[in-house]
Amino acid sequence: MEIIDVHCHLEADEFCNDLEDVLKSAKSAGVIKLITSSVIPEQWEKSLWLSQQYPEIECTWGIHPWYLKEDYFNDLNRLLTDSANKIVAIGEIGLDLKIDNPPYELQEKFFIRQLEIAKEINLPVIIHCRGAFSQLTGIINKIGMPERGGIIHAFKGSPEIVEQLIPHRIFFSLGCGITYRYSSKREKILNQIYPDYLLVETDSPDIPPAGQSGIRNVPSNITLVLSALAEYLKISELEIAKTTTKNAKKVFNL
Ligand SMILES: [Zn+2]
Repeated sequence: MEIIDVHCHLEADEFCNDLEDVLKSAKSAGVIKLITSSVIPEQWEKSLWLSQQYPEIECTWGIHPWYLKEDYFNDLNRLLTDSANKIVAIGEIGLDLKIDNPPYELQEKFFIRQLEIAKEINLPVIIHCRGAFSQLTGIINKIGMPERGGIIHAFKGSPEIVEQLIPHRIFFSLGCGITYRYSSKREKILNQIYPDYLLVETDSPDIPPAGQSGIRNVPSNITLVLSALAEYLKISELEIAKTTTKNAKKVFNL
C-alpha cells in the first residue's frame, strides 16, 4: 500500500526527540510522502530543512489563522521572493470563526494576501476553515483560486459547500476525525468527493484518532483513516490508498 499524508506538522515540538522513529513507523504503515505545513514564519526554515533532510518529506510555507500577528504581514513577501523550488504549496492558511482572536478581519487580510501570492506563483493552497465556509466561498468566488487549485484539510463543511467548491479545483482532505462516530452527512460528502477529490491526512501531532485523545497523533495512524473510509465507501483500503495517492500527486505535482 502507498499512502500520502497530505497534511501534518512535523516541525512541531512534539516531534523534536524522535522524528526518525516516527518516520520509520510511517514508512512501515505504507506512507510514501508526507506534506508538512509550517504555521508561522519562524518555522519556515525548519520545514525546508526537514524536506531537504528526508526524501519522503515535502514542505509548505504559510501563516495559520490562529497565530497571526500584524508584524507577520511583511514576511509574506518572502513567499514571493524566496520560495521557488523549496515548497510544494502555500499553507497552512485559512479562516476560523470558532475563535475570537485573532479577529476575523485580520484573518481575512492574511488569507486573501496568501491566496493572491499562491495565484501569482502558481502553487496550490492548504486551507484551514472552521465555521467560515460562506466567507471562504465568497472570497474564492471574488478572488479565484490558483490554477493548481488547493485542498481544504480536515474538511467539516456541508454537501452544498462541496458542490460550490469542486469547480474551483478544490480537493477535500480527511483525517483521524472520521474515526469517531458515524455521520450520515459525512457519508454523503464522501460519495460526492470520491474518487476524484478525496485526499487523506493525519494533521499530526493534532487530531488523534478515536480512543487516543490526549495522545500525540502520528502519521502511521493514517491507516485508521483508510479503514474508516473503507467502511463508509464500501471500497477496499488498497483501492482508496491508490486513488488518494494519485490525487495527491496531481495536486502537489509530486
Ligand atoms: Zn494543520
